[in-house]
Formats: sequence, structure tokens, C-alpha cells
Amino acid sequence: MTYGRASDDERMPGGLTVTDLVVTYPGKPPVEAVRGVSLRVGPGETVALLGPSGCGKSSLLGAVVGIVEPTSGTVAWNDQDLTWTPVHRRRFGLVFQDGQLFPHLDVARNIGFGPRMAGVSAEARAARVTELLEIVGLEGLGGRAVSELSGGQRQRVALARSLAARPRLLALDEPLSSLDADLRTRLAKDVRDILRSQGVSALLVTHDPAEAEAMAHRVLRMGDGRLL
Ligand code: ADP
Ligand code: MG
Repeated sequence: MTYGRASDDERMPGGLTVTDLVVTYPGKPPVEAVRGVSLRVGPGETVALLGPSGCGKSSLLGAVVGIVEPTSGTVAWNDQDLTWTPVHRRRFGLVFQDGQLFPHLDVARNIGFGPRMAGVSAEARAARVTELLEIVGLEGLGGRAVSELSGGQRQRVALARSLAARPRLLALDEPLSSLDADLRTRLAKDVRDILRSQGVSALLVTHDPAEAEAMAHRVLRMGDGRLL
């Protein structure tokens, strides 16, 4: 793990490239949440953006996955411009702080939701769900109601659900912040190992230096809408 500048991996081909990204929310006065950020995430690399609350982390992540409209700048994957590509066509996954699981579906149906929407057969779905439960360490819990899960287990399900569609990049917005400190440390290591075993690129945002250091290959510091 290294602290470094956004250009450290310039020689690495492919992956995510964010260039001069600006997010300004309209209003009186307008809020300049992201003020010109450029960064790269290489294939299979986990990069953490570390900064205090309000510094623009979620806005930046939102623009990367396509749920926040950038004011200017570009988001690209393997040099293909995705800045205006709809969320579902980017093949990026998103994990939020509180998981946002579907409360009325059991664990297996939460994980299999994306593949089901994508028309994957019941048989192939079941096999993928079993595989993912194993990957995130929840073997045999497919039939469990999400209301019967601990906070840590919920985040494991959220991770499995976002991996189900085999995203090329996973965006994680403070994924462990709702958990107690000791659980956070353990789960951070597990999440790191899972991301690496899956070979997926990941962009993690957090205000917690320990979480950033435990999970990322590289940590970029952010403050007031900019990389520091
Ligand atoms: P972080 O995730 O680092 O806490 P955010 O990206 O959520 O930061 O917020 C950055 C700034 O943008 C803050 O001042 C916040 O109040 C503002 N902001 C975030 N979302 C919106 C929005 N939808 N409309 C207006 N202002 C927003
Ligand atoms: Mg945020």
C-alpha cells in the first residue's frame, strides 16, 4: 500500500481514467463539490480516496458510476468515454455504507437480483449465488431473511450482490462505516482479499485512514473537492 499521486500508475494500461472531473450542484450559491479531479484505477487495482465528510467523495464516486451528472470532465474505461453512458451500461457496481439490501427478499434473492433482471436462468443463478456466498464467507445462508443478519453480514451480502453481475469496477462508498471498530478492521481485510481474488478494479471512498490503508493498494487524499 502506498500513499501517492493520481499519476503513479500512468504506465499501467487500461482501467478507469477520470480526467478533470467537476461536479457543481445548482443553487444559490452553487456548491462546487468536485473541483477538477483526475485519477486512474488500473485493472485489478484498489484505490482509496480518503478525506473528511463533505469533501466531495460521494459526488466524485457518483459521477464515476453515473448517478451524478458531472459539470465537466470525463470518465473512461480502457479509453472508451463513458461520461454520458447510462449507469446500467457501464458495468460498474456500487456498494453503499448501509448496503441498501431489498428487505423483502432473502439473501439468495438479493444476490441473484441483478442476474435475474439480466435474464440469467434459474439454474445458472443458483450456481452463481452459491459461489458468491462462499466467496464472501456466508455459505448456507441463502435462505436467511436480511432482517436476521448482523451489520457485517449485510455488508457481505451487499458485496456479493454487487459482484454477481461481474462488474469491471466496484465503487464502494464508506462500505464499513456503519460497523463497530473491531468488526470494521476484520471485514476490511476480508473485503480486500475478496476484491483481489476476483481481480476486480475498485474505487473506495472513506473518511477512515485505517479502512483505506487496510483495503487499498494506493491511497489518494482528498480535501475540499480536490486531490491533495
Ligand atoms: P462526502 O461524500 O465527502 O461527504 P459529498 O460529495 O456528499 O461529500 O458532498 C460534497 C458537497 O456537496 C457537500 O457540501 C454537500 O453538502 C454537497 N452536496 C452533495 N450532494 C448534493 C446535492 N444533491 N445537491 C446539493 N449539494 C450537494
Ligand atoms: Mg459521502
